[in-house]
Amino acid sequence: MAEIDVPEPFHSRAVALDRADRLAALRDEFLPAEGVIAYLDGNSLGRPLRVTAERTAAFIREVWGTRLIRAWEEGWMDLPTVVGDRIARHALGAAAGQTVVGDSTTVLLYKLLRAAVEARPGRDVIIADTHNFPSDRFVVDAVARECGLEVRWLEPDPRGAVTPAELRAALDERVAVVELSHVAYRSGAIADLAEVTRAAHAVGALALWDLCHSTGVVELALDDDAVDLAVGCTYKYLNGGPGAPAFAYVAARLQDVLRQPIEGWMGAADPFAMGPVYEPAPGIRRVISGTPPVVGMLPVSDMLALLSTTDMRAVREKSSALTAFAIAFADERLARFGVTLASPREPERRGGHVMLEHPAAAALVAELWELGVIPDFRPPDGLRIGLSPLSTSFLEVAEGLAVLERLLTRRHGHN
Ligand SMILES: *Cc1c(COP(=O)(O)O)cnc(C)c1O
Repeated sequence: MAEIDVPEPFHSRAVALDRADRLAALRDEFLPAEGVIAYLDGNSLGRPLRVTAERTAAFIREVWGTRLIRAWEEGWMDLPTVVGDRIARHALGAAAGQTVVGDSTTVLLYKLLRAAVEARPGRDVIIADTHNFPSDRFVVDAVARECGLEVRWLEPDPRGAVTPAELRAALDERVAVVELSHVAYRSGAIADLAEVTRAAHAVGALALWDLCHSTGVVELALDDDAVDLAVGCTYKYLNGGPGAPAFAYVAARLQDVLRQPIEGWMGAADPFAMGPVYEPAPGIRRVISGTPPVVGMLPVSDMLALLSTTDMRAVREKSSALTAFAIAFADERLARFGVTLASPREPERRGGHVMLEHPAAAALVAELWELGVIPDFRPPDGLRIGLSPLSTSFLEVAEGLAVLERLLTRRHGHN
């Protein structure tokens, strides 16, 4: 592949940052991606680990292939809570017994939102925001319709997050639940999770958090922050692979009062009793509906093993340095072409990705993909740079953005 000419001082800076990076060696744990100069979309689909390729094949031959159905009693049944506890320990700042893996984020959002609404009888309002991910907005609408509730839509700054003050102005004793994303999928802005949760609790409402863009990249302390309910992805920063199952967190204090709506045999107290009526399992298992996605939990287990060799503080530190580097490049090299930053500038208010805007973003992203530089396009004019800390180097970011600069130079016909 042709050498990418990275302008100074960004080339030297990238080399120095990579040299000083304590997590740099972990990049070798990921499968190399042939023909890719810069993968800037690890926040949408994380890269596979080398070990996952081998472990998955070995699992099929040696466990599924030989233990067959007996393996359900040899560990498979417990995987949703075993893997859930490991996500909780390494990424969520949560004690064991509150996290379970299964379904997709969308389905878990529905299950927990319905459960939350029913846990607050007599209240008829859900609060959500118009800048959230489509599934979040659609599920909020669907649950409101189904349960005869009203939605109070907040309209936060599109480059920011719902603030505790904005939320407080909308809260009253009619509110059953507040549903928000911790890190905004578009702008990358971080909401004040602890303060928003406190504000919801002050009027007796529950808070349901979508952690898709924070899990595995931003430090979380769900227990300390008194979070009630949360859901999140495992295929983004937890590298679980396409369609990998999601996780749900339900605080221990709520588990026995909550009833989720998809009552299936695997969430029943005794699945093999095949009884006439549903009796929910005690604890977090009641969030399970159907058969656990055993194969789907293998890659995320490998990533959790890798995460356990470091910690979220180190991951977050590298993540902040990566996003700062990308912003500096955008400011100094791309702004003259009309590229603007649509993410917070303060590192503590920003998650693991950076949103750049340019009127030609859609065409630029298509051209970049052709050249092996892979960011994401988000309508109407967003070029999203996702920087998965364990698999991304500073030089890779510099090279990817240098290719973008070349395309912009050509497009604008000047230097
Ligand atoms: C990625 C993402 C989802 C994905 O939901 P799926 O059910 O896995 O498709 C949901 N919410 C947010 C905020 C996301 O970023």
